Amino acid sequence: MRSPIRDYLDAVIRDTSDITSGKVSDDIPELARVDPDLVAVSLSTVTGTVYSSGDHEHQFSIQSMSKPFAYAMAIEDHGLDEVLNHVGVEPSGDPFNEFSLDERTAKPRNPMINAGAIATHGLIKSDHAPASDRLMDLYSQLTQRNVEIDESVVASEMAAGDRNLGLAYLLSAAGALHLNPPAAVAGYVRQCAAMMTVDDLALMAATLANGGVQPNTGNRIFSRATTKQVLSVMASCGMYDAAGDWMTSVGIPAKSGVAGGIIGVLPGQIGVAVFSPRLDHHGNSERGSEMMRLLSENLGLHLMTAGRPARSSLREVHTAQVDDEAATIYALQGDLSLSSIETLVHEITTNPPQDPLVVFDMTRIDEVLQVAHETASSLATTLIDQGHRVIFVDPTEAFADFRDEEGREVERWSPEELREHTSGS
Ligand code: GLN
Repeated sequence: MRSPIRDYLDAVIRDTSDITSGKVSDDIPELARVDPDLVAVSLSTVTGTVYSSGDHEHQFSIQSMSKPFAYAMAIEDHGLDEVLNHVGVEPSGDPFNEFSLDERTAKPRNPMINAGAIATHGLIKSDHAPASDRLMDLYSQLTQRNVEIDESVVASEMAAGDRNLGLAYLLSAAGALHLNPPAAVAGYVRQCAAMMTVDDLALMAATLANGGVQPNTGNRIFSRATTKQVLSVMASCGMYDAAGDWMTSVGIPAKSGVAGGIIGVLPGQIGVAVFSPRLDHHGNSERGSEMMRLLSENLGLHLMTAGRPARSSLREVHTAQVDDEAATIYALQGDLSLSSIETLVHEITTNPPQDPLVVFDMTRIDEVLQVAHETASSLATTLIDQGHRVIFVDPTEAFADFRDEEGREVERWSPEELREHTSGS
């Protein structure tokens, strides 16, 4: 059965198809060769279910989305205090590649801008293997596949890399770099040239959402404290000089890359990744930012509005006789947000109901977000098409005038009606 969450992601792509503004990066000449109309979105729950749409198998370089993971590795290597001695955590308000050091401390302001990222790369322990090899290994653990470097992107960035080299010399002169400048830049450029799909990136983001544990393997990759630090810095500095605008309009920790990717993390719930190569003047994907804004609005991701903690919306599934019809009853609870309704979608798609009557009992539902409305509508459509009769028990009236996608009315009962007509369970 087709997943309504997948349908929702298709709609995010459709609804942003008129956004063709922005410009593909040419700082790295190799990146300018990309098809600018490629587009993809992927979402992973903290239980590791991945939903995606668009060109989700297309690989592109991770670029600056590598920075949070390299920062995490440096913290795991040395402890946070030591890393803070070398790289700050204040938003710089400057573009990502600014020649920027804090005047007072002579340290890079944060690990998300290039100055801080090159210094951070230099901190990663490399006694046994180069930092970039260790990072490939880390990416592979996070994505559960063998992540590789695009050598043509490396060569292209190295040939056009005077600015990063200049930054590295500046850091070195200020005593803030642990490697010699050319080696630091060469390693950092490899860190950025790892090839990823949005599905890989969504899983990486979901590991951060999951407190540092990879959702599928169950392996703890980063400590909880490291993960919290990384997410905090993503929230304040991840979108460079657009960080304030991002926090107000999208409202989740995020990181962009100059190849056109953006990852976002809703702690405890989901990791998201989008891809579209045209960039705005900050170097953030133009269409990708709008996809993220839509996802945030419709899925209720904004951290400052997330009130109640999410819990699974599926309380129990049981069968009963409703009048003389055999029924499968799904009892739901809590807020119907994306991450909570996903458990219901997962249950119905993997284990479709066999009874002619399907009842969604929403007696214990508090609030219904827009995405849950759309998801329920599409679930109802599929079930009705398959010949089921569908009843919503909806005391909150959240589904008043509810129709499925074909415009068919869905029966709505009160909890009393359900009780009166039900026998056995
Ligand atoms: N490798 C790129 C650079 O250093 C990464 C920049 C980015 O993605 N914003 O310029």
